[in-house]
Amino acid sequence: MSDPVVFNRRDFLKLAGVGAAAALSGCAERPTERLIPYLIAPNDIVPGVPYWYASTCRECPAGCGVLVKTREGRAIKVEGNPAHPLGQGALCARGQASLQGLYNPDRIATPLAKEAGAWRAIGWDEALKRAAEKLGQAVRDQHGVALITEHAPGSFERLVADWALAAKGTRLVYEPFAFESVREANRRTFGIAALPSYDVGRARMVISFGADFLETFGAPVDQARGFAAMRARPESGFFVAVEPRLSLTGANADQWIAARPGGEMALALGMAHVILAEGLGSGDTSMHEAVAPYDPEAVEKQTEVPADTVRALARRFAKSRPSLAVAGGVATQSEQSVALVAAVNLLNQVAGNIGDTVRFDRTLNFDAVAPFHEVQRLIETMAAGKIDVAVVHGANPVYAAPAWAGFTAAFDKVQYRISLSGMMDETTDRCDLVLPSLHALETQGDVESVAGVHSILQSSMKPVPAFDARPAGDTLIALARAAGFGSFPATGPNTSRPSGSPSTSASAAVSPGPRSGIARSRAAGCGRWRRRPSSSGTGRRRSRRRPSRGAAA
Ligand code: SF4
Repeated sequence: MSDPVVFNRRDFLKLAGVGAAAALSGCAERPTERLIPYLIAPNDIVPGVPYWYASTCRECPAGCGVLVKTREGRAIKVEGNPAHPLGQGALCARGQASLQGLYNPDRIATPLAKEAGAWRAIGWDEALKRAAEKLGQAVRDQHGVALITEHAPGSFERLVADWALAAKGTRLVYEPFAFESVREANRRTFGIAALPSYDVGRARMVISFGADFLETFGAPVDQARGFAAMRARPESGFFVAVEPRLSLTGANADQWIAARPGGEMALALGMAHVILAEGLGSGDTSMHEAVAPYDPEAVEKQTEVPADTVRALARRFAKSRPSLAVAGGVATQSEQSVALVAAVNLLNQVAGNIGDTVRFDRTLNFDAVAPFHEVQRLIETMAAGKIDVAVVHGANPVYAAPAWAGFTAAFDKVQYRISLSGMMDETTDRCDLVLPSLHALETQGDVESVAGVHSILQSSMKPVPAFDARPAGDTLIALARAAGFGSFPATGPNTSRPSGSPSTSASAAVSPGPRSGIARSRAAGCGRWRRRPSSSGTGRRRSRRRPSRGAAA
């Protein structure tokens, strides 16, 4: 009888790793990933104990703070960061789902070139060479280069501006939700072309004129958290939604007023009229003359809202100080949108809410976002055949720009189109070359989505090995260097973790979570108010880990 074959656990795991590597090496050229990421784990990695990385959500421009839970070198969960001023521990469904984008099997796996209408996978060297030739020619001949990017406030946006300047090209930061009418109305009424922060949590009454502030308007997570705080108080705040269609935000209202579409401005001015006429306001009566035509009976004719309802709303709004009126959403998509927001500003002013629940010291950073007339100007330039090369990153205007604007037809007239997208979206599909970029959870960088709040964007893991993508900043720099314009450093502000490096850098704020799976509070040092540094250590950077010897993929 032969001796039984006995493996101890360590030998078995080694053989499993070697076997998987051998099997995979025969059918793929890309570096193979070991079955077990940490076959030889770094000294300070305890299998089964999660590490949490403080970072910033990049699923929308709001820039909420997140904590990314990783196990054995893989991100497995994203949660809100309680120590971050934006969101304060809350995260919307989109932020929660960001992992779906990271591991999406439909991510673009390699650079692609379009040949005879079909995509062909090519290597990075060839892709950069092709792109640099076209770019260099266009820059030398001054035949027009356009760089269209998503809204990514921070160092990356400054790199984009420098790149476009060096290429003597046009730079367009495209953001479909640009809140243009709100910013323009604030410029005309307060001299600040910005979207303020709304302190919903402090308000004792909120009235929304079409603003879906619990869904997409402004910073929805921050506002939803404030709304929950308002509701949690013993004397729960009162919420009125004025909108012809019942939105999800409106469904949470105590009173829903289906005013006639376009009647929101008259209702806001009617409320201001009552507050001023009855002396219920903050004492600022300079607007009395402006609202004189909007007595409740006149407002009823314009809005189909009964005059008694207008009076009741105005009295409650004035007496529930601090209160808050917000205009946005579908109500600000008409020709009267700027006038509506100005009317709501006036209502907040007479009720004494400006500087209290409407704050201009913490404005959302939309400074670089192009107003729509700039989008139209670029469309005209492209349609006239004056752009030879267009580079697109993160934006999808073929899908998001209104069809009547003619972006798609104009984009098709650009001679050579390069996409830096990681997904095959509608704009990328019309390009000639794709240089895929990393997902935000694989990228280093920084974000300043709200004036004064600086957040770090740190990769929670090394790039998923199935996708041969690069940081967008590095790609832009490589293109500029190869095409011979500008003078840029070797790597950009949003780089990935260098290959072969340990899984955390010296500047990373990271801490192993306790066995309960809850992050230690000091791990959360990501994002701070510039003028109000927190005393709880927020913003402090800390690394508890030594360079790893592990074989993390
Ligand atoms: S609101 Fe915050 S959590 Fe939601 S997608 Fe935007 S940045 Fe992410």
